[in-house]
Amino acid sequence: MIAGRRSEQGDDCVDANSGELQPNTEAGKRFVAIVAQHRDAFRERAPAHDEAASFPAENIDDLKASGGMAVFVPEELGGLGLASIHDWIVGLERMARADASTAIAVTMHYGVTRNLAGAWRAAVERGDEAAAQGPAGMLRAIAAGELVFCATATEAGTDFLRPQTTAEASAEGWSINGRKFFVTMSPIADLAVVGLRVREAGEEDKIGFAFIPMETPGLLPQDDWDALGMRASGSQSVVFADCRVPRESIQIAGEWGRWNPGILMGRTIGNVTLVAVFLGIAERARELALAGAQAATKTKLDGALASASGVQHLLGEIDIELAAARAVLGEAARRLDAALAEPGGGRPSLEVAHGHMRDYQAAKWTVNQSAIRIVSRAMDVQGGTAFMGHNELSRLYRDVRAGPFMQPFSPTETHEYVGQVALGLYPEG
Ligand SMILES: Cc1cc2nc3c(=O)[nH]c(=O)nc-3n(C[C@H](O)[C@H](O)[C@H](O)COP(=O)(O)OP(=O)(O)OC[C@H]3O[C@@H](n4cnc5c(N)ncnc54)[C@H](O)[C@@H]3O)c2cc1C
Repeated sequence: MIAGRRSEQGDDCVDANSGELQPNTEAGKRFVAIVAQHRDAFRERAPAHDEAASFPAENIDDLKASGGMAVFVPEELGGLGLASIHDWIVGLERMARADASTAIAVTMHYGVTRNLAGAWRAAVERGDEAAAQGPAGMLRAIAAGELVFCATATEAGTDFLRPQTTAEASAEGWSINGRKFFVTMSPIADLAVVGLRVREAGEEDKIGFAFIPMETPGLLPQDDWDALGMRASGSQSVVFADCRVPRESIQIAGEWGRWNPGILMGRTIGNVTLVAVFLGIAERARELALAGAQAATKTKLDGALASASGVQHLLGEIDIELAAARAVLGEAARRLDAALAEPGGGRPSLEVAHGHMRDYQAAKWTVNQSAIRIVSRAMDVQGGTAFMGHNELSRLYRDVRAGPFMQPFSPTETHEYVGQVALGLYPEG
C-alpha cells in the first residue's frame, strides 16, 4: 500500500515530500501564486485549443490582468520585479502543469522582458536618462497589458548563429527578407524580436535583432501551425518580404556565425528556462499517474491499482527520474543566479560562458529524455484509457516530444558539444 498523507496545498495528488522545485525569492513566490490562480482555467481550456490547434488568447488576457505577463518588469515600473532564473523556472514549470503550450509561449515574452529590464536598470544606474527612456516605455506598456512579445530565431536548414533572414541597409533604415518558422505566440503578439543576418557594405556580416511591430507591412504571418504537440502554442511561420524598419530597430549581437560570451549567455538564459516546461509536463504526468493508481480499481486486486507492486515500482521509477531532472535543472539555474549576482557576472569570459551553456545542455538532455520516459510510464500506470484522444496524458505524450528539438543544440550535437567543453576545445561557431 502507498502510505502517507496527501498535500493540503490544493495541487492534485502532490504530497508534501514530493521534492518539487520551490521558489527562493519573494518575487518568485508571487509568480508561483499568480500561476496557481490560473491553473484550473488554463487546464479547462487546454483540450479544445489542442484539438483545434488554436492559440488560447484568453490565457494571455488572464495573465495580463493578474500581472503574470509583467513578472520581469521592475516594481518601480509596475511589475513583479522577478530577477531569479531559478524562480522563473519554478513558475514556468507550474504553468506547464496546467497548459504546456501557454508556458512555452510566455517564455519567449519573459526572455525579452527580462533583457529590457536589464537594459533599463543599467541605464538608470549610470544616470543615462535618455537610454532608460526606451526600455522604460516598453516595460510600462507590458505592465499595462498593452505589449506582448514573440521572439524568432529559427529557420529551416540553419541555426541561431547563421540566420539567413537578412537585414540590408537602405536609405530609410533596413529592409528585411526571409522566412522564420516556429514563431510561438505570434498570433497574438504585438511585437516580434527577430534574429537576422545584418549586411552593410564594406563590413563583415553581423547577427542582429530587430524589434518589429507585428502589423509592419511585409511581415506576413502564415497561419500554418498544425503540429503533433504543443498545438496551442501558435508557433506559425512568418515571412518577411521587404519588411522595412527604421535604423534604430536593430541591435547588433556579434559576428555572424561565431559564438561570443554575450550570445552564449543570452541563449543559455533564454533557453534553459524552456526546459522547465518539459519538467512541468513530467510533474503533471506524475500527478496523473498517482491519481490513476489511487482511484482506479481492479477486480483481481480487490481494490486500487496502487496496491500492486508493479504499479508501485513504476511510480518509484518516475520519482527517481524526476528527482534527477529537478536536481540538474535547479542546480543549473542556481549556478546562473549565483554567477549573475557577482560583479561582472553578466559579462563572463568565453570559457565561463561555455560552462553555463554546458550546464544548460546537461539539464536539457537529462530533463527532456526523462520527461519523455516519465510520461510514457504514467501512461503504463493509467493503462489503455491514457491512449484515448481526449485523455490528458495522451496530450502530454505529444507535447513532451517537442523538448529535444529546442535549439541550441540538436540531439545529434549535444554530446559532441559537452565533450568539447570538457576538453577545453571551445567551438568558435
Ligand atoms: C513547439 C516549438 C516551439 C518553438 N518556438 C520557437 C520560437 O518561439 N522561436 C524560435 O526561434 N524557435 C522556436 N522553436 C524552434 C526550436 O528552438 C528549434 O530551433 C527547432 O525546432 C529546430 O528545428 P530543426 O529541428 O528543423 O533544426 P535543427 O536543429 O537544425 O535540426 C535539423 C536536423 O539536423 C540535425 N542537425 C542539426 N545540426 C547538426 C549538426 N551540426 N550535426 C549533426 N546533425 C545536425 C538534427 O539532429 C536534425 O535531425 C520552437 C520549436 C518547437 C518544437
